[in-house]
Amino acid sequence: MQPTSGLDSIPTAEAPSEAFASLRRFARTRTPVERCELCAAELAPEHPHLLDPASRQISCACDACALLFCGQEGAKFLRIPRRIIQLQGFSFTDLQWQSMMLPINLAFFMRQPDGGTRAMYPSPAGAMESLIHLPAWDALCAGTQALATVEPEVEALLANRIAENSMYFIVPIDACYRLIGLIRTNWRGLSGGGEVWQAIGNFFSSLEQRATGISEASHA
Ligand SMILES: [Zn+2]
Ligand SMILES: [Zn+2]
Repeated sequence: MQPTSGLDSIPTAEAPSEAFASLRRFARTRTPVERCELCAAELAPEHPHLLDPASRQISCACDACALLFCGQEGAKFLRIPRRIIQLQGFSFTDLQWQSMMLPINLAFFMRQPDGGTRAMYPSPAGAMESLIHLPAWDALCAGTQALATVEPEVEALLANRIAENSMYFIVPIDACYRLIGLIRTNWRGLSGGGEVWQAIGNFFSSLEQRATGISEASHA
């Protein structure tokens, strides 16, 4: 036996220094960590999102800042809930939908602090607001218990009537912003093009996968 049968005698594909170099390259190409936009603390992939109702800006935050800046009287931010609920048994009637005169079969409805309703819809230019005077939230959503729990401004009723089977969800408001962003960036020409409709389809199938059914809604 040779006493020098150490590392040197083992054939390796790469010299150790090269292996470390590629490890470092891998580490560098990983996405940078997200930071709290209020205190710069490092964030976990799942972290609170806060809405500034005055500017409609959404910020990523750490748990400490979410506690500190939300919930009190006069707080600057509203904490955005995480729940996604797919509503079974709720639907706008065709008449109700037509009376809202939305140019696309996709819209989200926000409950306002004063009990009113605001409707926005995505367009190639970004989010557009419906200028029609809408019924009050309770009148629009009458009879659906889960919709009575929607938090003003930070949650929305998302309606998708593009496909034959329309879908309705209670979603965090940042999900609506994501949908608007993907429509704006993928829209081509007058009709949107195939890519945008594919992207919308993917967005809704991932919502369906993450959503809880309506029966869980009462515990949320
Ligand atoms: Zn923070
Ligand atoms: Zn975030």
